Amino acid sequence: MTPVATEGPIRATLIDISNCIGCRACQVACKQWNERDGEQTELQDDLGFQNPATLSAKTLTLIAFHEFENAQKPGGLESAFVMQRCLHCLEPACVSACPTTALYRQSDGPVSYNVDDCIGCRYCALACPWDVPTSDWNTRAPKISKCTHCADRAPQPPPTTFNGQPLSLEAAKQFADTMAIPACVKACPADALRYGTRDEMLALAHKRIADRPDKYVDHVYGEKELGGTSVLYLSRVPFDKLGFPTYGDKPFPAFTKTALGAVPPAVMAVGALLGASYAFFRKRAQAVADASAASRHAHHGHVEFEPLRSALMTPFNWVLLLLMAFGAISFVARFALGLGGSTNLSDTYPWGLWILFDLVWIAVAAGAFAMAGVIYVFQRKDLYGLGRSAVLMGLLSYSFVTVTLIADLGLPWHSYALALNAPEHSAMFEVSWCVGLYVTILLLEFLPVPFDYFGYHRAASAWRRWNGAYVAAAVTLFVYMLSRNVLYALGTAIVFGALAWIFRARDEHAEPIMLAIAAVTLSTMHQSSLGSLYLLMPNMLAPQWWSPVMPVSFFLSSIAAGTALVIVIDMWIAKGWRRPIEIARLASVGQITFWALLVYLVFRLGDMAIRNQLAGAFAGGLGLAFAAEIVLGGVLPLILLSRRSLRQRPDVLCVASVLAVGGVAYNRMNVVLFAMTFRGRMPWVAPETYVPSIVEWGVSIGLIAATIFLFGLAARLMPVLSKAQPIEGH
Ligand code: SF4
Ligand code: SF4
Ligand code: SF4
Repeated sequence: MTPVATEGPIRATLIDISNCIGCRACQVACKQWNERDGEQTELQDDLGFQNPATLSAKTLTLIAFHEFENAQKPGGLESAFVMQRCLHCLEPACVSACPTTALYRQSDGPVSYNVDDCIGCRYCALACPWDVPTSDWNTRAPKISKCTHCADRAPQPPPTTFNGQPLSLEAAKQFADTMAIPACVKACPADALRYGTRDEMLALAHKRIADRPDKYVDHVYGEKELGGTSVLYLSRVPFDKLGFPTYGDKPFPAFTKTALGAVPPAVMAVGALLGASYAFFRKRAQAVADASAASRHAHHGHVEFEPLRSALMTPFNWVLLLLMAFGAISFVARFALGLGGSTNLSDTYPWGLWILFDLVWIAVAAGAFAMAGVIYVFQRKDLYGLGRSAVLMGLLSYSFVTVTLIADLGLPWHSYALALNAPEHSAMFEVSWCVGLYVTILLLEFLPVPFDYFGYHRAASAWRRWNGAYVAAAVTLFVYMLSRNVLYALGTAIVFGALAWIFRARDEHAEPIMLAIAAVTLSTMHQSSLGSLYLLMPNMLAPQWWSPVMPVSFFLSSIAAGTALVIVIDMWIAKGWRRPIEIARLASVGQITFWALLVYLVFRLGDMAIRNQLAGAFAGGLGLAFAAEIVLGGVLPLILLSRRSLRQRPDVLCVASVLAVGGVAYNRMNVVLFAMTFRGRMPWVAPETYVPSIVEWGVSIGLIAATIFLFGLAARLMPVLSKAQPIEGH
């Protein structure tokens, strides 16, 4: 049931830790009201007098036991019981994260959950600064669980009878009053829990501190932390001794709000800028072509394409097929066994190999948009021969990223909720829509290849006529979904509609410039929004990686990685299929990689210097990882790509490109896993570790194999690769 949002002052619970006697009546009352099963009693030495160990789908409120040094107490130790549960933030990170509004904040405080809208992405679990939301790992449809602040109790009608006797009006009113307060508060026998408006609870908390300064530290936890919460704590010892994280006043969603708020105007600006650039470069290219005697042949830089003529079922491809079978079995196992049964993901590690795989793959697949932009917008027709393979690799990569996401979602059959709801500033929502639309753009970019080759002339003509209109409609839809602002959508429709009209196809040789503009625009948005995903986690991600301008770093680094991968793939194709390496062409791409890498490194290190993060960045184990990422994956390839003479040496170009791809891939690994602090549900107990399961490896490896196999298959069926130029001297 979706609780009805209630107007009125914010309702809050005050938890006075110094009054709590650890009876756990609240824990039991919470279970009873929310109909959650009991848990197996496990007495672990590390946990002391506590059971269960953590919050879970069964336990939404947990009385945690803490012991800390106090020389005044017998044995030199003092203990305290602390209620763990959702704090019902005034600016909840979980709500900001949620791409479907399955989590939403009621105006009077409670942060509520609607399973029908939940896709099971677990971004909320990762984003919550207090590690509250948990997944039900033991089911095939794992929903999110967390305290609801008993938002569903208030609207309950009071009973008319009690023990078979009719209730008096006064007794019914008493029932109604106690029903309207959370079950835990109702159950507490020790005045450790109070419930009322947030103003009343803050006044009460400060009064208690003022009346008994010997009993309380002068701090109401939750009054200001991350913008404030509706669950407030009082304590006799500093909160950090009880495992409470120390936070400032600024709510983490403020970072994503700023980043995502910039997307709709950025779409219009990028689109207009690309259109203007195209007009400029096309005019320049035309002038050069007109002045050249070879102008009659200048179209597409003389490049011709041909299907690859080689046997498909090579030993290498048999291995790929075996790996694909392994992937298919793993995919089936994922759904047969459920997420909990098939992966090693947990509430401590809600995201693992698959999300890492997606982030790395999307970054290195950026070659598709980078090449489309360079070839068409900036009229680098000398690189035209690389365009088809880059687009095909992009199409396959993004399609399989989507497949991995389906495997990773706990409730993928609720994905339609992405189309029905309007979260205010969810980076995941932005990425979902943007990637979904970009896959269609990639498909449209590739379609002329089969259309021309197989003689589908009518389809090719319809494609030429309508692709501009499709781009205008798709980008406008994207901006509307993201902003729900008619003016932004209208502005986008005008900008992209005008571009589509100005650059409409006038003959059958027309360039797919609108698709190129859409590819660059949408990629700029989702590559950067993948960085925005982590803006909600400054508490978890090490300062060498977290920055409020992470989205820009993610975008810039993707251009470096994407273009470098274009070089690596072309060299691999040349070696594997015994084709000559067109080194001049690849060296030109290497020059683009060089500039992208340079801008990325200057931006990233400059940002760190401005934020005073550079001095200690190289210290400790993470400092070593940072140094490896920057030096081996950034500075070294930059040096190797800096001179034309070096770029024109295949061995140097290859090493530099592999290092650049590896550096950016390693950056994403650090962001997703290695540089994150996964505190675990009990920070004072060693966090659980995460090693991907065989099913997680199987799906990932199977999809990589499928990408390589299908690329080879398509290259044999259609003219994807440029005609091999004869090797000099042969
Ligand atoms: S404590 Fe966590 S789960 Fe609860 S509202 Fe805040 S961010 Fe959401
Ligand atoms: S859709 Fe994702 S973020 Fe939203 S509640 Fe479900 S798991 Fe959490
Ligand atoms: S019911 Fe009250 S006293 Fe008992 S454990 Fe819960 S908060 Fe503490």
